[in-house]
Amino acid sequence: MAKAQRVAVLGGGPGGYEAALVAAQLGAEVTVLERDGLGGSTVLTDVVPSKTLIATAELMTTVGGASELGVRFPGGGTGDHDTTGSVSVDLARINERVKALASAQSADIRARLEKEGVRILCGRGRLDGPGALVVEEGEDAGARVEADVVLVSTGSSPRTLPAAQPDGERILTWKQVYDLREMPEHLIVVGSGVTGAEFANAYDALGAHVTLVSSRDRVLPGEDADAAEVLEGVFRRRGMDVVSRSRAEAVVRHGDTVTVTLSDGRTLEGSHCIVAVGAVPNTSGIGLEEAGIWTSESGHIDVDKVSRTSARGVYAAGDCTGVFPLASVAAMQGRIAMWHALGDTVAPLRLRSVASTVFTSPEIATVGWTQGQIDSGEAQGEIVKLPLSTNARAKMLGIHDGFVKLFCRTGSGTVIGGVVVAPRASELIFPVTLAVEKRLNVDDVAHAFTVYPSLTGSLAEAARQLHVTGD
Ligand SMILES: Cc1cc2nc3c(=O)[nH]c(=O)nc-3n(C[C@H](O)[C@H](O)[C@H](O)COP(=O)(O)OP(=O)(O)OC[C@H]3O[C@@H](n4cnc5c(N)ncnc54)[C@H](O)[C@@H]3O)c2cc1C
Repeated sequence: MAKAQRVAVLGGGPGGYEAALVAAQLGAEVTVLERDGLGGSTVLTDVVPSKTLIATAELMTTVGGASELGVRFPGGGTGDHDTTGSVSVDLARINERVKALASAQSADIRARLEKEGVRILCGRGRLDGPGALVVEEGEDAGARVEADVVLVSTGSSPRTLPAAQPDGERILTWKQVYDLREMPEHLIVVGSGVTGAEFANAYDALGAHVTLVSSRDRVLPGEDADAAEVLEGVFRRRGMDVVSRSRAEAVVRHGDTVTVTLSDGRTLEGSHCIVAVGAVPNTSGIGLEEAGIWTSESGHIDVDKVSRTSARGVYAAGDCTGVFPLASVAAMQGRIAMWHALGDTVAPLRLRSVASTVFTSPEIATVGWTQGQIDSGEAQGEIVKLPLSTNARAKMLGIHDGFVKLFCRTGSGTVIGGVVVAPRASELIFPVTLAVEKRLNVDDVAHAFTVYPSLTGSLAEAARQLHVTGD
């Protein structure tokens, strides 16, 4: 019998642990080295905690709209969106739930890896050449693991500004917010990308006064422009202050207040500040250069579509590669790496059908080509956008903001992308993802039954409107 291949994984987030599961399934001897906890930042500080916090925020948004649907709250106001004084949240309890859920999820992942026979080492490590890992600090300090295949999946960390150093109490990164025990009176969120928008939306819904500082013309500069416009409108209507075209230069704490200085000299005063201005890859000091692994100027590891680095036998996956900072992509890169390294059937990574969501109220879910790419001529496509305000189910549910947008290839009618802006858009985007992935024609989508009444009915209607006539 052939000797089992030895696989060593540096970093136990989705890039690392999903790879470990595939490698174990394919009969390899697998070791995962992780410094903070299985599941990585994804489970412990980023995706799982933020989406758990957002679950409560979403409930508060629903409650906020309940009076329009005829619900009365004892002691509540009388206006359509007024539940003032009747419903509030306990942030300490929310954060206890967030942390408990995250550590339970991490424990589940550890148990699953152990069940599959994966060896887990605890500590901070680095590569020792292209064929070994060493543990430098922590419980298993001193251990060395030799491997035929190495996967680097060390993730990324919040980028900080030199003049806005987090103190973990009032000036916070997105990883530090779960230690808050009381609702910030006035939260300033610096950065209006996905993370900034999600936290601004969540704390606004939970009852904080929020100011969102955006360096661009509008929030979510990287997302569909119509979707971002809807969200910014909703933010402003709910009373959030959105400060556009303003770059934060410095954040300073004086006792219980924080002062944010903008590049034009203006200042904003708040009780807390979350700085969400991007991430930097965790790639320094882990022996990459010595192992012959090339990185880009930004410090991301160069990989090809099967996750190979420039060093033979060394693969990389996830945020440390900068390919697409999503947990789902990290996991797929990790699996592909192992399928390739261990000789299983493998197809190169395809980013065209990656679905992603901005978890705000409403949510913004997208897949495939974008309208920006169609408008610029990079893709030849037709576009239909339908507001949800005409959808019967949306009216029943009291949904006032949102739309569906479908893109198909000009001439052939093949579905190439779409956008859904709606509550639970993260769930509603799946039929579009399926259509993009399987290259379905708009008629395939249009001819499938949807439930009446349903929000997905608008997706089928958009497909019908995109029907390519014979003439
Ligand atoms: C606030 C927020 C919300 C997000 N929400 C979503 C979402 O809803 N959906 C989504 O798909 N994506 C989301 N993302 C993106 C997602 O978190 C990342 O894409 C994902 O974490 C990448 O996984 P990874 O395996 O590359 O890294 P990570 O999950 O960061 O795991 C890397 C691991 O490597 C370990 N490590 C690093 N260096 C060493 C070392 N030297 N020795 C030992 N261990 C080491 C770290 O401790 C860490 O556990 C969100 C990101 C943020 C910031």
